[in-house]
Amino acid sequence: MSSPELSIVIPVFNEGLNIVPLLARLKPVLEGITPQFEIVFVDDGSRDNTFAEIAKAHESEPRIHALRFSRNFGKEIALAAGMDHARGKAVVLIDADLQHPPETIRTFVEKWREGWDMVYGQRVDRSADGPLRRWLTQKFYDLFRRFGETPLPPGAGDYRLMDRKVVDAMRRLGERARFTKGLYAWVGFKSIGVPFEVADRLHGESKWGYGKLTRFAFDGLSSFSTLPLKLATVIGLFISFVAFAYGLVILGRTLWFGNDVPGYPSLFVSIMFFSGIQLVFLGFIGEYIGRIFAEVKRRPLYIISDEVGGRQHNRLGPRDDRASPPL
Ligand code: UDP
Ligand code: MG
Repeated sequence: MSSPELSIVIPVFNEGLNIVPLLARLKPVLEGITPQFEIVFVDDGSRDNTFAEIAKAHESEPRIHALRFSRNFGKEIALAAGMDHARGKAVVLIDADLQHPPETIRTFVEKWREGWDMVYGQRVDRSADGPLRRWLTQKFYDLFRRFGETPLPPGAGDYRLMDRKVVDAMRRLGERARFTKGLYAWVGFKSIGVPFEVADRLHGESKWGYGKLTRFAFDGLSSFSTLPLKLATVIGLFISFVAFAYGLVILGRTLWFGNDVPGYPSLFVSIMFFSGIQLVFLGFIGEYIGRIFAEVKRRPLYIISDEVGGRQHNRLGPRDDRASPPL
């Protein structure tokens, strides 16, 4: 089978109500671009009728394919699986909730045909998110820009088009703590942004609570920066320096004025303070070790339980050092 021009990868988790409206808007756009397209859904362990809806859509449209994970592995892993299974010369990643207007794909493809390897959607505003989430997101990206090893373009998310060579590069990155936004930047290539307006979610609600977002933020920072570890050294050095200076002061005072015993409260406070700092940094180190542990176990990234649009595939996600399954 010759490979299609365009693959659309859509991670879905409990999106049963969104499948039909999404396809209704997406398909005309794709038809207008090329009939040589495929749509690859990755059902990330949905507990509703998502997979049944996709299977139904496949009946009338064989260009729709789907993989179903054996459980919820998270959006980042779903994207990785989608890229593993997409065969197009270009691959577009898009959310299922119609927050990413499918019409923008036209511009993505235009830019790609002009020779850009990666075309990313840039949100012009995030008003679809609440003010607190927007503020926290902003802070995270500021932090990342200052301390991460690769800068992230502002407003860029997962909505994007990648040329085949970018996808192949992305597939070589087998890490578990997948901060995909960082990986896009890390692989490089000729990239350009296309502004788009984030719409409101059609049905259901966002699956990203603050807990999950915090995990994700730390995954991002720890995959692309060792700053938290270096912070321990810097603060440790600073405190040692202050302690040394204070030691000299005490020595001088004792020599001049003799010794008196008070000082119990300050002793208590400083012991509490420094044990606190030590525990915090032990925690940081623990986070890194936990992630190293997760990586060295070399488990497959994902497990596929069902497929629609039958192509024989490796059911286990590949790892960087093992041969990727042939497409
Ligand atoms: N998603 C997924 N697995 C998850 C959470 C989300 O595949 O564990 C999918 C979800 O179905 C949607 C996309 O990722 O297509 C974006 O999720 P969501 O709309 O909840 O995130 P937000 O838009 O709030 O960032
Ligand atoms: Mg959404």
